[in-house]
Amino acid sequence: MRITAVEPILLKGTQTYGATAGAEEATDNGDWQLLVRVATDEGLTGWADAETLAPAAVAIIAGQGMAVLGFKTLGELLIGENPLDVERLWDKLYVGSAYYGRRGIAIQCISAIDNCLWSIRSQAAGVSLARLLGGRRHDRVMAYASTLFRETPEGMKAAAQGYVDRGFHAVKFGWGVFGEDPGRDRELVAAAREALGPERHLLVDPGWYPAGWKTPGPMRSRRDAVALVEWLADYGVGWCEDFIHPERFDEYAYIRSRSPVPIAAGEQVATVWDFQRFIGEGCVDVIQPDLSRCGGVSVAKRVAEMAEQAGIDLVPHSWLTHLLTGYSLQLISTLPRARFVEFNVSQSALTAGIARASFRLQPDGTVPIPDTPGIGVEVDEDFVQRHRAN
Ligand SMILES: [Mg+2]
Repeated sequence: MRITAVEPILLKGTQTYGATAGAEEATDNGDWQLLVRVATDEGLTGWADAETLAPAAVAIIAGQGMAVLGFKTLGELLIGENPLDVERLWDKLYVGSAYYGRRGIAIQCISAIDNCLWSIRSQAAGVSLARLLGGRRHDRVMAYASTLFRETPEGMKAAAQGYVDRGFHAVKFGWGVFGEDPGRDRELVAAAREALGPERHLLVDPGWYPAGWKTPGPMRSRRDAVALVEWLADYGVGWCEDFIHPERFDEYAYIRSRSPVPIAAGEQVATVWDFQRFIGEGCVDVIQPDLSRCGGVSVAKRVAEMAEQAGIDLVPHSWLTHLLTGYSLQLISTLPRARFVEFNVSQSALTAGIARASFRLQPDGTVPIPDTPGIGVEVDEDFVQRHRAN
């Protein structure tokens, strides 16, 4: 089998990212979305999504490359290759783009391509990706509704009640206005806990952008970060997520060693080498590789081994289209301890419309994990054509 095309597909929508004041749902990427499609001469096709500066990613995958190794486009490195050689090709892509890449947009593009290749490989083998990766230990996993903070306690209460009514046993609120006003932060978390009751899981993602996501400002001080995790414990928060600058491994380790609530992070970490350091330095209780950013399934499966070795949990970060949820569910199925799947309830019309998924929330708050060849997610190619911008 040979790779015949590596196509970056840029989609344009009409909504924009943002939180709401009240119970209404927040919106994720509504303006641009990048998909990657890898095609083969035997008719098998892999699809993946990427969260990145999409127009630049198009150039990295399919633009004009240069002659020397280290300056190649990812597409030219792949055409004619055997798609079943997934991990050899990961190395080829990483080295082939090393001068301009290694992290950021290049590793996000490599992640999408790597996921496509794993999808093709599992379709070729006639098994689900989880079986290809070593076997299904779980056929379902608890889903947590993943959304943004609302601006008022009333809005938080109504939103949380809405997720309970839909059957969720776990909810994560993140970003939005959190961090702008410590007094209000506490009221928002208290309101969510009240609506969820004492038994359901409440997860908090305070965000690490300086002083919120709208305006630049100073990062949290060490003292403020410790104070934050201490008061979050008053509300039985299941974890505090990604609230420190992603380069500050030392800061993560310091706060984690003093935190009464578990620390979750890793969505901004990429490559096996950085995960080895992040986990090895004791930064987290829950490692959260994002399969569309970390280097793809090839990296994430090795992170799962590291997490097991370190005695910590792994819950993939997956706040994008059904494609990323699909890849994440397959990895989760193989884990010794499957705690949650992140379920993006804030999808825009653009991110929601890209793929039809067979996974649905069950009355017990879990999502069944597909066991069909590939990842069990079907791309709506008509929708993709209608929204295509390149
Ligand atoms: Mg997060």
